Amino acid sequence: MSPPRPRSTQAVPRAPARSAAVSGDGAELLVLALGAVPDDLVAAVADGLSAVYDLRTSIAPRSDRPAFAFNPARGQYHATAILRHIGSLLSSPAPPAVLALTHVDLFLPDVAFVFGAADPAARTAVVSAARLVRPDVAPDRGRLLRRVLKVAVHEAGHLLGLAHCDDGGCAMRQSRDVGEVDAKRPELCATCRGAYASP
Ligand SMILES: [Zn+2]
Ligand SMILES: [Zn+2]
Repeated sequence: MSPPRPRSTQAVPRAPARSAAVSGDGAELLVLALGAVPDDLVAAVADGLSAVYDLRTSIAPRSDRPAFAFNPARGQYHATAILRHIGSLLSSPAPPAVLALTHVDLFLPDVAFVFGAADPAARTAVVSAARLVRPDVAPDRGRLLRRVLKVAVHEAGHLLGLAHCDDGGCAMRQSRDVGEVDAKRPELCATCRGAYASP
């Protein structure tokens, strides 16, 4: 057992800080909003990740919608371009890992869409709420928050060295649609918890 570590720190300036360098300020995981992501959702994800991974999170000043990553032919945003951009925002001392939250629809070249993406080598990840709201169902804030947290736990898991898991209820299970996101929990199964505790 490691000694208990502090939970997430208090956030932070709400005013936009456009293209400002982002400093980790001692956090082990920095959560960064890109565009119009509600503050309460950002805070809930930071708290949730802090609890699941037992690490200190903090919230960076909000950054702009990632317009640079927009692909007009697809009408979507290139996840890899966003991951690269996040890396360029980091100042020294940089936090060990950064997870961005956005509302824009993400894609990778050979995939129709992704809920999120991570680059463990660069220690950056991005999570989108765009596909977690179903057009046929009235938005439910609590449900959306839970879905975003599940995807965030998944992508943060990749940042922290976890691979995909076959356990249907584990956050590290791959999800191809909202139903599969709903089927899992915003936490790790015992096997993944063990892998995280002793990498
Ligand atoms: Zn994955
Ligand atoms: Zn698992």
